[in-house]
Amino acid sequence: MASFDVIIIGAGPGGYVCAIRCAQLGLKTAVVEGRETLGGTCLNVGCIPSKALLHATHSLHEAEHNFAKMGLKGKSPSVDWDQMKAYKQETVDGNTKGIEFLFKKNKVTWLKGWGSIPEAGKVKVNDEVHEAKNIVIASGSEPSSLPGVEVDEKTVVTSTGALVLNKVPKSLVVIGAGVIGLEMGSVYARLGSEVTVVEYLDAITPGMDGDVAKTFQRILTKQGIKFVLGAAVQGVTTKGGKAKVTYKLRKDDSEAVLDADCVLVATGRKPFLDGLGLDTLGVEMEPRGQIKTDHFATNIKGIYAIGDAIVGPMLAHKAEDEGMALAEILAGKAGHVNYDVIPGVVYTTPEVASVGKTEEQLKEAGRAYKVGKFSFMGNARAKAIFQAEGFVKILADKDTDRILGAHIIGPMAGDLIHEVCVAMEFGASAQDLALTCHAHPTYSEAVREAALACGDGAIHA
Ligand code: FAD
Repeated sequence: MASFDVIIIGAGPGGYVCAIRCAQLGLKTAVVEGRETLGGTCLNVGCIPSKALLHATHSLHEAEHNFAKMGLKGKSPSVDWDQMKAYKQETVDGNTKGIEFLFKKNKVTWLKGWGSIPEAGKVKVNDEVHEAKNIVIASGSEPSSLPGVEVDEKTVVTSTGALVLNKVPKSLVVIGAGVIGLEMGSVYARLGSEVTVVEYLDAITPGMDGDVAKTFQRILTKQGIKFVLGAAVQGVTTKGGKAKVTYKLRKDDSEAVLDADCVLVATGRKPFLDGLGLDTLGVEMEPRGQIKTDHFATNIKGIYAIGDAIVGPMLAHKAEDEGMALAEILAGKAGHVNYDVIPGVVYTTPEVASVGKTEEQLKEAGRAYKVGKFSFMGNARAKAIFQAEGFVKILADKDTDRILGAHIIGPMAGDLIHEVCVAMEFGASAQDLALTCHAHPTYSEAVREAALACGDGAIHA
C-alpha cells in the first residue's frame, strides 16, 4: 500500500492535466488508468485520431479539387486506407507517449489498472488498496446509443469503431448531426463514401448560432453530404454486413428506410462511471447521470470530480481547465474556470468555432445587442485558398459594446476564435478589437473587420 496526497482516477485531458499541476504544486500524486496508454478518450479514440484523419482527407480534397487550379497538375493521390490508419495511429502513439514522459518528468505515479473507491480516502487498483487525502474522479465518458440500435463496432459503429473501419464503406449513414458525426462524416465523404446524416432536430449542430448552422449545412451539402433533418431513427437492422436504418419524419410521421454499408451512431456521450463504487459510497448524481459537484467537490468529503464525468460541455479543454483549477484548489490556492468563455470548434473544412452567447440565446434573454458580421469574401487570404464562403460574426452589448459572443465559419476558425476569447476574458469591447492592428494579409483581419462592423462599419465589406 502506498499513500498519496492525491489519487486521480482516469488519465484523460482532465486527469492527466490535474495530475501534472498537482505534482508541480508539490503534492504527491498518482493516476489510475485502466487503458494500455495514457491520454484518455481524447488522445486515444477522440480528438487526436479524428484530427489526423481530417488532415489526411483534407489534403486529399485539396489535391483532387484545388491543386490543378493552382497549376499543380498530374494524377491525384490514390488512397491507401491502411497506411492512413497507420499514420493516424503513429500520431496517437506519439502523443500518448508524450504524456508518459510528462508523468516521469513531474514524478506522477501511474497505477496501472482499473480503480474503485471502497471508501473515502482509499482507492483500490487490482488487488492493492492505496491511501489518498484527496480522490479525483476523471473517468470521462463513453458513447451513448439509441433504443433499437445495437452497436457491433463493425457494421454499426460508434466513433471508436469509425476510426478503424476495415475498409472505406461505399455508403455511410451517420445518426446525429453533432460535432463528432459531422467530422467523421466529412472524413468518409472525402474518401468517397456516400454519406447521409440523419438528425432528429430541424437543424444541424444543435446549440450553434443559427446563422452559422445554416451556412455550415449549405457548405457540407455542396461537399456531397446529404441531410435528413427532423427524423427520428426507429431502429437499425443488419444482415450480411449491410444495414438498414428506419426513420420517421417528425412533421408527418412518414417512415422511410436507408440502406448503408456502415452506420455511425453519433448521438452523444454519457459519463463512464462503471466499477467505481459510487452507489455504495452514496455519491450524489445529477438527473442526467453526471456526478453532482460544487466547485468540483462531491457530497463526500475528499472526493472530487472533473471533465466529462460532470456537468458542462464534453470537451477536452473544459476537462483540462477543470483539472488545473482543481489542482490549485487542492494545493490551497484559488482555482477557477470561466464557463462563459469556453470555445467550441468543429474541425471540418471550413472550420466552425464559437464562444459566448449565440444570437438566439441573447434574443431569448431579452438582451439588447448588436451584430458585426464580415464575410471571408472580403479577406484576401481566404480567397487565395478557395475558402471565402464563411464569415465572422461578433455579438456585442448594444449600449456598452462589450463582446458577448463570436461565431466563425471559415479558414482556421478554431484558431481565430482565441483572440475573441482573450478579449472576452479581459471584458473587452468590440471597439477594442477593432482598434487593434492586425497583420495583413491574415485570416485574423476578418475578425477585426467584424469588430469594426459592430461600430462604424467594416472597410472591405
Ligand atoms: P476521458 O478523456 O474520457 O478519459 C477518462 C479516462 O479514464 C479513460 O482513459 C478511461 O480509461 C479512464 N478510466 C475510467 N474509469 C476508470 C477506472 N475506474 N479506473 C481506471 N481508469 C479509468 N474534445 C475536444 O475538445 N476537441 C475535439 O476535437 C474533440 N474531438 C473528439 C472526437 C471524438 C471522436 C470523441 C469521441 C471525442 C472528442 N472530444 C473532443 C471530446 C473529448 O475527447 C472529451 O471531452 C475528453 O476526452 C474528456 O476528458 P476526460 O479527462 O474527462 O475523460
